[in-house]
Amino acid sequence: MKCPYCGSEMELGYIQCRDGVTWTPKKQPIAALSALGRGSITLANGAADNARAVYAYRCSHCRKVIIDYSSDT
Ligand SMILES: [Zn+2]
Repeated sequence: MKCPYCGSEMELGYIQCRDGVTWTPKKQPIAALSALGRGSITLANGAADNARAVYAYRCSHCRKVIIDYSSDT
């Protein structure tokens, strides 16, 4: 995957979290319960059946990480 910022080839790796990888619009008081937060999105893209890991592309030049996800809840 090419970095959308600089065009360099990105390195594929993983981001893992014991309690699942979750995006929330507001920081949650307890990280382990983030999936229960309002508007939360559990990020999953096939890296693990239990949603505790996602594939993530890293650009070492721009120091950015990109995560594609497919789930909406
Ligand atoms: Zn870049």
